[in-house]
Amino acid sequence: MQGLVDNYLSPNSPDIGECIYCGERDAPLSTEHAVPYALNGPWTLLRASCKRCADITTGFERDVTRCLLPHVRNVLAMQTRRKNKRSTTLPLEVHRDGIVETVQVPRTKYPTYFPALLFPKPGVFWTDVPVPGVFSDLRLLHLAGPTFAEASKEYPGAHFVGARMNFSADDFARLIAKIGYCAAVASVGLGAFTSTPIRNVILGKDDCINHWVGSWWGEPVNNTGGGLHQIRITHEMPGHKLHAIIRLFAQFGVPEYHVVLGPADPTYVASDQWPKQWADPKNPEDYLRV
Ligand SMILES: [Zn+2]
Repeated sequence: MQGLVDNYLSPNSPDIGECIYCGERDAPLSTEHAVPYALNGPWTLLRASCKRCADITTGFERDVTRCLLPHVRNVLAMQTRRKNKRSTTLPLEVHRDGIVETVQVPRTKYPTYFPALLFPKPGVFWTDVPVPGVFSDLRLLHLAGPTFAEASKEYPGAHFVGARMNFSADDFARLIAKIGYCAAVASVGLGAFTSTPIRNVILGKDDCINHWVGSWWGEPVNNTGGGLHQIRITHEMPGHKLHAIIRLFAQFGVPEYHVVLGPADPTYVASDQWPKQWADPKNPEDYLRV
């Protein structure tokens, strides 16, 4: 499908040679996609995840891509490794006269919404006491087909016409954490992340997800046109604290997310592997785009 090509596609897929989550070097290592393959993510890290960690990350990725976004993916004809299984119709739920009926409608007649989760800012900015879980609010962004109100006119007497979505806000937030971390490793290098808190969030060892992952509430950082997904990596002084600001599905007005990656390793900052543009404090370009 035209228009889904990411204009900021980075051609380099760095070869990492160790698991970016647990440091394993000796086991077989697989390619890691920052944004999942199923969501047309263009950025990859080669030899970057061991089997044990890949099982954890693919677990929450599958939950999000299959439960949160199946209809979005279907309507946008996103890539899948199982093309022949894609359905040409989608299930619409109609409640009428006390009866719940599931009607299969063609894709073009299906009210398609993007379920965008809104979080507070990462908790690290407003509390010293990390709280388990995530706080979230759901905003439905209309993407294609009729609206729910328009679709309900086809079913006179119905008091509910819609879709059922089963998903976990925790899984979505952990996926955002993974996307931000992978993008930062791709652009800054793994050596910067010797003490990042985000690995434990991704691996499910830290339940206080919202402390490190939230919505971005400042001025928009990434563009809304052009690419499908855009990510900006910034560093904050003092201490070279690293942040990822993520916009997925840019052209649909999905809000931006903010992942706090913690301070960069000081030895790495002093090395010549640290991004050159960050070495000059007067450089106005204080971000890297991946
Ligand atoms: Zn691992």
